[in-house]
Amino acid sequence: MATAFSQDKPDPKDTEVWEPEPKVVKPGQNLSAPPSDAIILFDGKNLENWADKDGNTPKWTVADGAMTAAKGTGDVKTKQTFGDIQLHIEWRTPAKVEGEGQGRGNSGIFLSEKYELQVLDSYNNRTYSNGQAGSIYKQSMPMVNASKPPGEWQVYDVVYLAPKFNQDGSLKTAGRITVFHNGVLIHHNTEIQGTTEYIGKPKIVAHEKASIRLQDHGNPTSFRNIWVREISH
Ligand code: MG
Repeated sequence: MATAFSQDKPDPKDTEVWEPEPKVVKPGQNLSAPPSDAIILFDGKNLENWADKDGNTPKWTVADGAMTAAKGTGDVKTKQTFGDIQLHIEWRTPAKVEGEGQGRGNSGIFLSEKYELQVLDSYNNRTYSNGQAGSIYKQSMPMVNASKPPGEWQVYDVVYLAPKFNQDGSLKTAGRITVFHNGVLIHHNTEIQGTTEYIGKPKIVAHEKASIRLQDHGNPTSFRNIWVREISH
C-alpha cells in the first residue's frame, strides 16, 4: 500500500513545461533602446522607412535625431505593414506653447492607419477627455494624465492586437490596446471599437496588415526612437 500511495503522490515535474523554450532576446542597454529583434522604423537619421500618402519621401523635417511634422505636408506612414505589434515611440510637443485644446501640439499615431492613439500637449491644457494625450481618439480616455511639460520627450509603449475580420468583412475579433505613457499604464487591454472618427461613431472597416501612420495636424510635433516588435502568438 505504501507503494501505491507513493505512485499517487503529485510530482512537481507534472506541471513543468519545457518546450518550446522562449527564445533569448537581448534587451537594450536602457529601457528605451530597441531589443535585438526589433524592427527599427526611425533611428534619427532619415525617413527611408516612411512614405507620404502618394508613396513619396515625406517632407517632414529630420534634425537632431528627430522627425518633425511639417505643416501642410500631410501624414507619413511606414512602408512596412504590420498586424499585432509591440510599439515604442517617443514624441515631443513644441516647447513654444501655441494654441489651446486640440490645437496644441496635436499629432497622432494611427495603428493599422485607422485607430488613433492621440498625441497632444495635455500638460495644463484641458480638452475633451477622450481626445487628450493617450486617448483612443473619441473612444477611450486614458486612465490618468501622465503628460510631461511641452518641449520634453515623452514615451508611449504600446501593445496592439489588430482586429480580425470574417470573409464577409464583418468583425470577428475586436482590436485591443495596452498603453504605457511615460511608464504609466493608461490603457489595459482596451477594446478598439472601430475607426477613430472626428465626427460620428466608430466604423468597422475590414483590413489586412497595414502601416503605422503619424498625423500632420498642423503643429510641429516631433518623434524619435521608433521601433516595433511583431507579436506572434
Ligand atoms: Mg491627433
